[in-house]
Amino acid sequence: MEMCAQPPLDGAKKTMHQIACHECDLVHSIPPMPTRAAACCVRCGAVLFRNKPDSIDRTLAWTIAGLVLYCVAVTFPFLAMKSGSIVQKTSLLSGVRNLYQQDETILAILVLLTCILIPLIQMLGLLYVFIPMKLNFRVKYAVPAFRLFQHVKPWSMMEIYMLGILIAMVKLGKMATIVPGLAVIAFGLLIFVLNFAITAVDTHMVWERLGSES
Ligand SMILES: [Zn+2]
Repeated sequence: MEMCAQPPLDGAKKTMHQIACHECDLVHSIPPMPTRAAACCVRCGAVLFRNKPDSIDRTLAWTIAGLVLYCVAVTFPFLAMKSGSIVQKTSLLSGVRNLYQQDETILAILVLLTCILIPLIQMLGLLYVFIPMKLNFRVKYAVPAFRLFQHVKPWSMMEIYMLGILIAMVKLGKMATIVPGLAVIAFGLLIFVLNFAITAVDTHMVWERLGSES
């Protein structure tokens, strides 16, 4: 059976991390928790957070894997369209440029932000916070870096872009031969890998460590 500690309510020791129940909004102060233990709301029993084992190692491993996939996704050709003897290759960045040239400025900015810049900010933010944590040294601005990571998280929309690509491939497939490039595969994998990295982050542990540094 899962261990579910009942944390004290707000007003307990100052060193404790504060967390609000996502179900009933009751604020709790969470003491340091043993690995794999979960803290539950005293009022409604919802799981407040779970202490994730090897969170630092797993976050770093998935983030580094994600960064490699990202480099492949950005540099290699995304799609190749063959129509007769004409072959046209597109990349993630040239796709954005094409949108801009076709006066789809807002769409171009959205794709640039949600699919290229934000995933990169997320991964660099994670590395900036987690590498020093793993090697036990302090860096400046780790708190704002982690806050930035948390704020941009909802703005990563690679899944929607990938869906758009797949629809375009099916539609264009009738007019030309579409050859998916290495970047499409890398981009598709990146969606999963980045999600694994984000899931591996133990937010409670990070705030505890960053809080004790300041
Ligand atoms: Zn609750």
